[in-house]
Amino acid sequence: MERQSIRIPDVIQKKRDKYELEPEEIKFFIDEMVKGCIEPVQLGAMLMAWYFNGMSPKELTVLIDCMTHSGETLSWPEEWKTLLVDKHSTGGVGDKVSLVLAPALAACGLKVPMVSGRGLSFTGGTLDKLEAIPGFNVSLTNEQMRECLKHAGCFIAGQTKSLVPADRIMYAARDVTATVDNISLATASIISKKAAENISALVLDVKVGRAAFFKNLNDARLVAKSLVEAARDQGINTTAVLTTMDVPIGMAIGNSLEVMEVIETLRGKGPADLVELVKIQGGLLLNSVGRTDVSKGQQLIEETLHNGAALACFEKMLVHQNVDVRLAADLCSGGYQLTRAKYVTAILSPLSGRVLDIDALACGSVCGALGAARARASDEILSAVGIELLVTVGQSITQGQPWANLHHEEQSVASDLLVKLQNAVVVGNAPHATLVQTTRILEIVQ
Ligand code: URA
Repeated sequence: MERQSIRIPDVIQKKRDKYELEPEEIKFFIDEMVKGCIEPVQLGAMLMAWYFNGMSPKELTVLIDCMTHSGETLSWPEEWKTLLVDKHSTGGVGDKVSLVLAPALAACGLKVPMVSGRGLSFTGGTLDKLEAIPGFNVSLTNEQMRECLKHAGCFIAGQTKSLVPADRIMYAARDVTATVDNISLATASIISKKAAENISALVLDVKVGRAAFFKNLNDARLVAKSLVEAARDQGINTTAVLTTMDVPIGMAIGNSLEVMEVIETLRGKGPADLVELVKIQGGLLLNSVGRTDVSKGQQLIEETLHNGAALACFEKMLVHQNVDVRLAADLCSGGYQLTRAKYVTAILSPLSGRVLDIDALACGSVCGALGAARARASDEILSAVGIELLVTVGQSITQGQPWANLHHEEQSVASDLLVKLQNAVVVGNAPHATLVQTTRILEIVQ
């Protein structure tokens, strides 16, 4: 078909009527959209047609390819080709895995160009967490990205303007046309950004549970399969791990508190559940690049957390991302604490017994409402707001004993938020052994 002979209304109509689009039609649509030659109503109509009528695997592959190449892609020295890896998480409460995993993989000799996002709703974004560190720069030029990868082995930065512009346009349109929750459109959005990083392996952490986007295992499995297949089609060796997201990850929620927990973890003193998530994702990636089997890979990752190698890469990354050398060294040696919130309120256990549950969704939404996350993209984040958990599920507790410290910036906390947090813990009687969650890992999708 001649390119000029394609008309946008005809493409929309074809999809509306459930026909498969030709590669040229998808390419024309995306090209015109990026040039600003498509009207917002046309984009909305196209998204809704895809939403209701789906995409064939071929259409999805073509769409991802067109989106990936809608702007510039990152390029790296040839000798790094087999070493370039990244991860993507569908988002959770207390999820600081990326901040530990990137330097741990760098310490194993891999290169991790991590282009990350900000949090919305109750989940914190990786960039928001890092911006709790004074001076940390998330807006790197391509040259700075290369320098950081060369010296630190990893960087964590925001999407540049020229990287996958098609996704920026489509995501904004999906957000206001009720078309965000569509597996094919979400797959195209996520994988086009990873493909533009020019990586050779990817691991996906797909969260399942009440504080996750996917509440049940079946939905999470479908998404994981779609993402894994789409990424493989783009030549990226990909695995997914399905993990529970009912109870917060680790003991810290909120940007500054999470960064402090990351540093403790990089000093070999991290909470077991966080370390487990870092090890499995690291092990899968080391396996995907052909370095070792998954189990040995997990051991290698763990070693980097205990021998200071991951911490050293993290410190180098901070310095290459504009953190003052002295401050980075003090922070990594444990001698510098990020600014604390003005007020800390202890949240007390209502009963004596065992901690049966801690509701991550309630914890995340209270932190968000107090300023730890955004309700709108333009909202300012209060880095020091958060929750420090003092107990884990399965532990004994007595009535009146604090189970959490709420860190807040205004003296008074709205009573509904306090009640919500007080109700986030369930204390009762059950034998310890039936309660302790031995693993967060539900399934690996190859
Ligand atoms: N994250 C993305 O980048 N895009 C989506 O569509 C969903 C999650």
